[in-house]
Amino acid sequence: MTNSSYDSDAALFGNRFAVQDTPSRTFPEGGMTAVDAYRLVAEDLVIEGDPARNLATFVTTWMEPDAQRLIAENLHRNFIDHAEYPRTAEIEQRCIRMLADLFHAPGETTGARTQGSSEAIMLGALSLKWNWRTRQQAAGRPTTSPNLVFGGDVHVVWEKFCRYFDVEPRIVPLRPDKYTIGPEDVEPFLDENTIGVAAVLGTTFTGHRDDVVGINDLLVRVRDERDMDIPLHVDGASGGFVWPFLYPDSPWDFRLEQVRSINASGHKFGLVYPGVGWLIFREKADLAPDLVFRENYLGKTDETFTLNFSTGSSMVLAQYYNFVRFGRAGYRYKLQNMQHNAHRLADQLEEMGRFEVIGRDHEQLPLVAFRLAGEAPYDEFDIAWQLSAERGWMVPAYTMPPDAQEVTIMRALVKETFSQEHVDTLARDIAEACATLDAKGGAHPSERAKMVVGPGH
Ligand SMILES: *Cc1c(COP(=O)(O)O)cnc(C)c1O
Repeated sequence: MTNSSYDSDAALFGNRFAVQDTPSRTFPEGGMTAVDAYRLVAEDLVIEGDPARNLATFVTTWMEPDAQRLIAENLHRNFIDHAEYPRTAEIEQRCIRMLADLFHAPGETTGARTQGSSEAIMLGALSLKWNWRTRQQAAGRPTTSPNLVFGGDVHVVWEKFCRYFDVEPRIVPLRPDKYTIGPEDVEPFLDENTIGVAAVLGTTFTGHRDDVVGINDLLVRVRDERDMDIPLHVDGASGGFVWPFLYPDSPWDFRLEQVRSINASGHKFGLVYPGVGWLIFREKADLAPDLVFRENYLGKTDETFTLNFSTGSSMVLAQYYNFVRFGRAGYRYKLQNMQHNAHRLADQLEEMGRFEVIGRDHEQLPLVAFRLAGEAPYDEFDIAWQLSAERGWMVPAYTMPPDAQEVTIMRALVKETFSQEHVDTLARDIAEACATLDAKGGAHPSERAKMVVGPGH
């Protein structure tokens, strides 16, 4: 639609984008008004999932208004520019020291702010590889075939690290009735080329932890008896901000002597919006010195240990806001509320008589993992699909990793925004989805193929 009166109407009333093709393939010749550009983007997003109904994600979907203000006011601050923004750099260091304290580091330590646990794991595992190479060289042994040992219950980032950085993954298989790993599973995989073992605190599959204590004891024994000093890294992406508050007496951190490094996602139970993670070393010596770069590019000699360079400061500042705003008491209170509502949801699912709740008597993230208990003319994928179609709830269904791949699980995260009222509504909606499926049978396979929600967020 173009004519000069239309042009002047569009200039006055806006909304022209609504009767045009959305720019999508070529770089636009001209622009549009700010209001139109805003509406074009915002209205596109209206038809995607609502984060508040996304029970698949571990990532924070709500923060306090004052935290949001801090975030909005600091979007123009480049985090990496330590010379210009020394207070921001100091706040990063405060967060690292506070986390080292929370994780019981024995003395002075070091660490890094990252974009999330994925970057933290890449950096932590690189340090394992570099330190292993140094040990091998000192012993006059070859450095050509490093391997890393972890369970099938890890996040995909661990395999990614192995492929990107040329390390052999030694993946301990799960079992149809056991979804975490322990020392007896790990031991056969260890040798002098093992750069480290990774244990998960709060798996993405069922929210449980590997037997970190048992694996630590194994590695202590291997060190003493076989003279192989194999470090343990704990992937606390979710659990690093849960265990210290819900299970303070359960050791998984630097209280265990072979635990040399820990990662945690600030944007999961650290309760910050996406874009912040943490890597904490037990001691300074656990960070391989060759991985630290010194440069004076931005005006002052600075040390960096990152895969990324420029990034926003907002989420680091928001993390510090949460630490000082909530303290241990606040995190404990919030997590206990989440756990309370998770238990309520688990109770209601059990009362329905159709579902088995998985591992609720064990230490677990605030979530409910469940599966159909008996025979039904439909499966968990059908329920996830029906629930999303009827009510917009995003509750993922997925098969477990090998050798538990015959098992299908559904999982609902119970976060701060998920109230008792929501629990009751979701339970009712699940019952109704099952009733619909009882009447009409399982979903058509093509509907099932549209399911895009996976476990690993
Ligand atoms: C989420 C998660 C990761 C990846 O963390 P990001 O912060 O999303 O990069 C790694 N490991 C576990 C156990 C996770 O839950």
